Amino acid sequence: MINPFSKLGISDDVVNAVKELGFENPTPIQEQAIPVLLEGSNDFVGLAQTGTGKTAAFGLPLLELIDFKSNKPQALILCPTRELCLQIANDIRNFSKNKPNASVVAVYGGANIMQQLREIRNGVQVVVATPGRMLDIIGRKAIDFSNVKYVVLDEADEMLNMGFQEDINDILSTTPDEKKTWLFSATMPPEVRRIAKNYMENPTELTMGTKNTGNANIEHEYYVVRARDKYAALKRIVDYNPDIFGVVFCKTKMDTQDVAEHLIKDGYNADALHGDLSQQQRDKVMKRFRERSMQLLIATDVAARGIDVNDVTHVINFALPDEIESYTHRSGRTARAGKTGTSICIINSKEVGKIRQIEKIIGKKFTKAELPTGFDVCEKQLFGLIHRVHNVDVNEEQIGQYISRINDEFADLSKEEIIKKFASLEFNRFLEYYQNAPDLNISADERERGERGERGGRERGERGERGDRGRGAEAGYARLFINVGSVDDFTRGDLLSFVCNHGRISGKAVGKIDLKGVFSFVEVESETAESLLANFKDVQYNGREVRIEMSGDAPRSSNRGGDRGGRGGFGGERRGGGERRGGGYGGGRGGERSGSGRRDRGERSGGSSEGGFRDFSGRSRDDRGGSGRREGGDRSRRRS
Ligand code: AMP
Repeated sequence: MINPFSKLGISDDVVNAVKELGFENPTPIQEQAIPVLLEGSNDFVGLAQTGTGKTAAFGLPLLELIDFKSNKPQALILCPTRELCLQIANDIRNFSKNKPNASVVAVYGGANIMQQLREIRNGVQVVVATPGRMLDIIGRKAIDFSNVKYVVLDEADEMLNMGFQEDINDILSTTPDEKKTWLFSATMPPEVRRIAKNYMENPTELTMGTKNTGNANIEHEYYVVRARDKYAALKRIVDYNPDIFGVVFCKTKMDTQDVAEHLIKDGYNADALHGDLSQQQRDKVMKRFRERSMQLLIATDVAARGIDVNDVTHVINFALPDEIESYTHRSGRTARAGKTGTSICIINSKEVGKIRQIEKIIGKKFTKAELPTGFDVCEKQLFGLIHRVHNVDVNEEQIGQYISRINDEFADLSKEEIIKKFASLEFNRFLEYYQNAPDLNISADERERGERGERGGRERGERGERGDRGRGAEAGYARLFINVGSVDDFTRGDLLSFVCNHGRISGKAVGKIDLKGVFSFVEVESETAESLLANFKDVQYNGREVRIEMSGDAPRSSNRGGDRGGRGGFGGERRGGGERRGGGYGGGRGGERSGSGRRDRGERSGGSSEGGFRDFSGRSRDDRGGSGRREGGDRSRRRS
């Protein structure tokens, strides 16, 4: 039987390579675009969502059209982000693995430019680049584009959103007039139209799906809550979907960090991704997410561009994007490669109009959903637990040795009683957390009155979710001075571990970490301070004696140290205690996670307040220590 890719005109060496990648049949966009692009004689505009197989749609024809005997750049692919750049370069390398002499270079900011220059000097046919770094290299006269025959503008709308218009103009002006330009975009705003008009001659236009529509496999839902209840609503949605693997979008870096930190402190397996993290930190976060050792990625629009993780079950818009068009990009992070997914908006009553605008853009109706009640969540979690118990793999060899002792322990209980007790073990925690949980949905009446109506001062429990974060951290904490800091290459996470290890205290007892240059301040629960100081004897770091002592400073009053308030939650967190501080609730989460199959690894660590500590909090703090460094040198970052 002839391979379907061969039928489209792809040569055997490339067909064999994609077969190895598991591509059996072309995706619809590949089916439509490959024969057109293989002709090589036309400009091209493809309106296609991310995750549809776009890279192979242009990558495979490029490989047929390039002369691999020559070592000169013949194809230039421009894309908005480093992540996408690496992904495309990697894909094309995979597609061309059977082509001797094929060479692909990825050119992007935040990485060593010398290495990229070296690769270019060694000879390369395909250059995949973010615009900022590309211009930098062109400015150094380090690349010759006179043999470029094809330029691909991938995610053109994103590149324009990010302000790359001028850079693209400059880059294209260094390529020959007779080259062909292939443009791919998820949406077709007027600016992208203008590019098509200015740079292309009678482009062949293909629309995969309806114009400007989102992926048909995505369900869109919105929840109307009071502004102050957003965080509680987010948690409830997550609790109701124990197997969620999602991306949560916030508007600002600060919100991203804030939401992530509070989720972490409340026992969720989450982390933040935003532009103030160093590239290394971003890579670390993405690696965890890709490996599924993290369940919720909290991201800004810019940081999440180009995220190519399959199997994302939910996209949650914790805040709606300013640019309505961005919604398509956000929701496109789910339902990739033919899967289904849900895109959720948590909005206040004033934002319903925006939902209507988005509906017009995506050509699809949202479902107005009701947040589950506390009882719903408990029920869902209970049966989730029951299913996991039912399906768990039993390690006969290991458990066998204990069975007779376990049986002895249960000798006085009937089967029914044992079942009840096992179920209650986890259920009680959720019940405790949720039994008095308020209805977070806004009533029709309130909706009418708009946000003003929300001051009714209802539920005491949920109210503090975000609001009280600024409080509570200060009282009961001692501020310590320590003579190590960022000059010692410490991140907050490192310092946290350092203090905990040498001071022999639990991470839970640590509050605010203020990482300075040659010294830092660390807040710890007052009652642990003395033993910490006593334990911290004769500690050396890099041959230097480490000094830690009580700082004369009075504890901070509330400010952004709101995280300390959350940290209060952190301490009280996953076991016992009130809702706000995540107590019973967190316990539930710990329990819930500890059993759940594929995310076992990360979740177990999260489930136990001690065990989870270093992983979650260390990382979070670590990331916060991100020094505001941007993707060095890449204008893409500067512009974003
Ligand atoms: P892309 O839109 O190029 O980012 O591709 C989305 C995902 O679909 C990637 O994980 C690809 O490896 C995968 N993919 C692309 N084309 C095919 C195909 N024909 N069959 C199976 N998977 C594919």
